[in-house]
Amino acid sequence: MIPALPEECDVLLRDGGIAHLRPLRPTDAAALHALVDRASERSTYLRFCTGGTGTAHAYMDRMTGPGYQGLALVALLRGRLAGVAECVGGGPGGRGDLGILLDDQCHGLGLGTVMLEHLAQEAAENGVKEIAADVLPENRTMLRVLADSGLPSTSTHADGMVRVLLSTGPSEELLARIEAREHEADRNSLAAVFAARSVAVIGAGRAPGGAGHRVLANLVEGGFAGAVHPVNPHAAEVCGLPALPAIGAVPGGAELAVIATPAAAVLDVARDCARHGVRGLVVLSAGFAEAGDIAAETELLRICRAAGMRLIGPNCLGIVNTATGLNASFLPRRPRAGGLGLMSQSGAVAAALVERAAAVGLGISSFASVGNKADVSGNDLLEYWEDDPATEVIALYLESFGNPRRFGRIARRVGAVKPIIVVKSGRGAAGGRAVRSHTAAAATPDAAVDALLRAAGVIREDGVRDMLDTARLLALQPLPAGGRVAIIGNSGGPQAMTADACERLGLTVPEPSPPTREALRARLRPAAAIGNPVDVTADGTAGELADAVRAALADPGFDAVLVVYTPPFGSGLAPTCEAVAAAAHGSAKTVLACVAGYDGLIGDRTPSYAFPEQAVHALARAAGYAAWRSRPADPPVEVPPVDGAAARRMVEQDLAAHPGGRWLDHAAAARLVACYGVRVTETVVAGDEEEAAAAATRLGPPVVLKATGPGLVHKSDVGGVEVGLRDAGEVRASYRKMAGRIGPAMTGALVQRVAAHGVEMIVGGVAYEAFGPLVMAGPGGVTAELLADHAFRAPPISHAEAARMLGELRCAPLLHGYRGRPAVDVEELEAHIIGVGRLMDDIPEIAELDLNPVIVTPSGAVAVDVRVRLAPAPPRPSPYRRRLR
Ligand code: ADP
Ligand code: MG
Repeated sequence: MIPALPEECDVLLRDGGIAHLRPLRPTDAAALHALVDRASERSTYLRFCTGGTGTAHAYMDRMTGPGYQGLALVALLRGRLAGVAECVGGGPGGRGDLGILLDDQCHGLGLGTVMLEHLAQEAAENGVKEIAADVLPENRTMLRVLADSGLPSTSTHADGMVRVLLSTGPSEELLARIEAREHEADRNSLAAVFAARSVAVIGAGRAPGGAGHRVLANLVEGGFAGAVHPVNPHAAEVCGLPALPAIGAVPGGAELAVIATPAAAVLDVARDCARHGVRGLVVLSAGFAEAGDIAAETELLRICRAAGMRLIGPNCLGIVNTATGLNASFLPRRPRAGGLGLMSQSGAVAAALVERAAAVGLGISSFASVGNKADVSGNDLLEYWEDDPATEVIALYLESFGNPRRFGRIARRVGAVKPIIVVKSGRGAAGGRAVRSHTAAAATPDAAVDALLRAAGVIREDGVRDMLDTARLLALQPLPAGGRVAIIGNSGGPQAMTADACERLGLTVPEPSPPTREALRARLRPAAAIGNPVDVTADGTAGELADAVRAALADPGFDAVLVVYTPPFGSGLAPTCEAVAAAAHGSAKTVLACVAGYDGLIGDRTPSYAFPEQAVHALARAAGYAAWRSRPADPPVEVPPVDGAAARRMVEQDLAAHPGGRWLDHAAAARLVACYGVRVTETVVAGDEEEAAAAATRLGPPVVLKATGPGLVHKSDVGGVEVGLRDAGEVRASYRKMAGRIGPAMTGALVQRVAAHGVEMIVGGVAYEAFGPLVMAGPGGVTAELLADHAFRAPPISHAEAARMLGELRCAPLLHGYRGRPAVDVEELEAHIIGVGRLMDDIPEIAELDLNPVIVTPSGAVAVDVRVRLAPAPPRPSPYRRRLR
């Protein structure tokens, strides 16, 4: 076996620490011997079945010696070699032998498990199907690591040893275990930052305007329970606290360091923090990647990783945890405590969000301004907030995605327990330019962002006002069980606008039930309108309004009650709000209000919106999220018949012959997609009119003749497609005419049988650099672009997801039997979507793929035109290899 070396990476350990994984090098010999020498006699015995270290040393020399033929991986913790894992023997399709030795000091961190994960993945990619480990029965730790890994395993006992066989292939179970471990590690690493008990502010100046000074003042004023230390070699005291010359002088050390020095000093300060055991850095200083200094940012991250520190920023506003009073930010206003977990990639947006949230009565659990996101990103914060008891709703302002696919997976899981609201800016061309110059991040096309968020159940808002409107409803009120709204108020105009907005946004405004009508009639004045909306009239009192709310809440026909009150009519603002809040108190249904002109809270849990559309928007978003959350789980992605290896071979061979990539010809493209179950109609290649005529006779008329040539892309645009030719003679004549029309650009033709009449659809995909493939479906044929009716998804796409995709199309009724036409085989069309998704997911070198059209008939679906462009591409990050970016 010729080992392919795994790449180097950093991984989080169970306790939130960081290990560096890399291939074993011959120069590691001394460190391996030191590892053996540090090992206790018991560890050496358990690993090598002998008490002496001679065997162990010989073993290590074999690994670093010439001609070593295994896959071997080492782990470094704070620069020291702390573990080695190898898989030896076993060629493609075979079985390798596993060996792992860890530093005694590093047990319990999950280091062995993460090395096993990486090694198994490496082995799988080298064709090794199985890994065998021979373990002493008393080596409980190792047996547990193997059993809990998530790799399917069997064990047998022989000769006093336990032989554990692990299969290396991908599986749902393994992925779930890996994600659970990743979650635990990520949460713990951020918890160490947010729950820090001691904070140093480095670069806290005496001038009140400076960022460091403001952070210090916020920490002091925020009532932080832990220790706060200003670090400033030029001052004796700042904000009334004694200043220390350096982080090393902090008594008892600091768990968190906020760095506010000029950029030029940050790296040295970070190294100093690394030496003194700091767990997390918040770097406020600007002047890194956003200013073009990518090298400085890379070095900053490297320092943090080597020392096991998480890094927030650089170029950020800081972090807040209201549970511990930790306000390590220079936000101008102190956030109030509440249920919102808030992250912003822009400092300015962060400040505005915190300000507005406080103004409308929305409290924050924790907050992070992540700036350049060199390390900690939205993905990490989602992992942290997932089981943070104080966080009920998550709101993210994003400008870019570091690892969009990972975001999608995490968001889908977290979103099943807590709503996630995202504002992603940089949608259009101008916004995209603004965001790129701001964060130096590669943009993800907006259609892809949309597909990603939609599939993950994320609530996407266009702006931060909508974000806060939706967030406070979700944070303060129960989720609506459905979309049936009772509108209760004292003024016809605003109520009519409210009802209109409900219908526009997919909510319904049904009539109350007869008992509810009776109850309303009994309590309201005769002039009141008793229907939906319920209008208590301008003279209606606060008591009447509250009675109407109670009646609607008791009606099983409503999921939500929306009070529309126009002050100062009736009993006036304060008594009315009080009465409504009392009626809403403790209700299991969603209650919200539009008190004209008033954005804030009624009582302590009922949000009020200044305008009806705002309230309805928030309610519609909450109802949409509730529906997503309660829908039955999709069955796992069904696996269509696939010959992935053949497809991979074809692509590799073609790229070897054409290293820059190219459009495949029709025949090659058809063969490629066929590996993933995508059917292309039988097609004969003809070099001239005689061959075309012969093909027509062989296939049996009627046939289609299509011109081919290296530059011919849209054949029908140049008169290069003739449908319905009835015999060899017509084919010959048509060929001649086509050749005359097109000229030398036509070098041959394709002949196909005419497909049965059906609905023409397009199924396509594009691979984006950071995002990966995006699959598209829509009405097909030559007018596809004109109609702009498209649905997008990122693979993997399940049957259920493909069905939802088609359901989103305006042309969907065509598939289900429109105006007397028969319904077509939608499932076969879905299979094409799934197949294209899997193919593009598996092979990053497929840059573009188009099946246009796929002709869908009542008895099947077949593509009659297929185009595939190959281009060299780096491998995509594997979800089976957990690592820090
Ligand atoms: P291009 O997209 O390059 O113009 P296509 O091969 O997609 O060429 O053909 C154009 C149109 O001709 C299709 O949208 C379809 O309506 C029709 N067509 C092509 N091939 C067939 C076929 N085998 N059976 C029926 N109709 C066809
Ligand atoms: Mg076409």
